[in-house]
Amino acid sequence: LVKLENVNKHFGALHVLKDINLTVSRGEVLVVIGPSGGGKSTLCRAINRLETIDGGQIVFDGRPLPAEGKALAALRSEVGMVFQSFNLFAHKTIRENVTLGPVKVRGIARDKANARAMELLERVGIAAQADKYPAQLSGGQQQRVAIARALAMDPKMILFDEPTSALDPEMVQEVLDVMVALARDGMTMVVVTHEMGFARKAANRVVFMAEGQIVEESTPDEFFTNARTERAKDFLSKIL
Ligand code: ATP
Ligand code: MG
Repeated sequence: LVKLENVNKHFGALHVLKDINLTVSRGEVLVVIGPSGGGKSTLCRAINRLETIDGGQIVFDGRPLPAEGKALAALRSEVGMVFQSFNLFAHKTIRENVTLGPVKVRGIARDKANARAMELLERVGIAAQADKYPAQLSGGQQQRVAIARALAMDPKMILFDEPTSALDPEMVQEVLDVMVALARDGMTMVVVTHEMGFARKAANRVVFMAEGQIVEESTPDEFFTNARTERAKDFLSKIL
């Protein structure tokens, strides 16, 4: 579904993505793990073109990423993104947060968007909160709204950038459970996370990224029990 070929990215003198080659197939769940500053967020942002690249190319669904206009808007609706900070609209209700994209961007009728929003809120377990505002919800609930909001656009893939790292520990699992269910339903997902339990349950592959490079690529079991490189072993010894 998405293919990165020799992707390079600099921020001034800083080389943040170094010759990244990576393919994510339809229905695949890829976990990206690695030390801070390694380029994980930049990689995600490059895939839905929140960040430009300065070398190589990214092909999504058979076409190079569009640079602008309608094609770029279409890409953004096909590639959902869920961030660490939930980024909900504070002055809109939960339901409005979920219907806004479909109504404004996709031109879906409000009634239809509302019905679909309720279905999705049901799916992530917060239909009862539909008329509340984000600040009235817990972090875990807000993040589940963010997932419902991404799903409302019928994306072909969702990028998750550390979706649970801003949450209180007791709320991490409820969000991971929703993500595991999504993975089982066949959603294509790229997930930056250090949650080993999620990786073991849901990931097809783990990519270990450090200093802008893909250092290791393996199955979750292989990676967590038998990392090949010193760099990965050292990292794992710090997080596990
Ligand atoms: P973390 O685990 O802390 O989220 P990360 O692996 O996601 O780290 P990135 O956020 O992709 O890393 O950052 C990679 C490098 O690029 C870092 O050194 C960061 O400071 C730098 N960087 C990221 N965004 C920008 C920007 N907009 N301008 C300049 N430098 C940036
Ligand atoms: Mg990051």
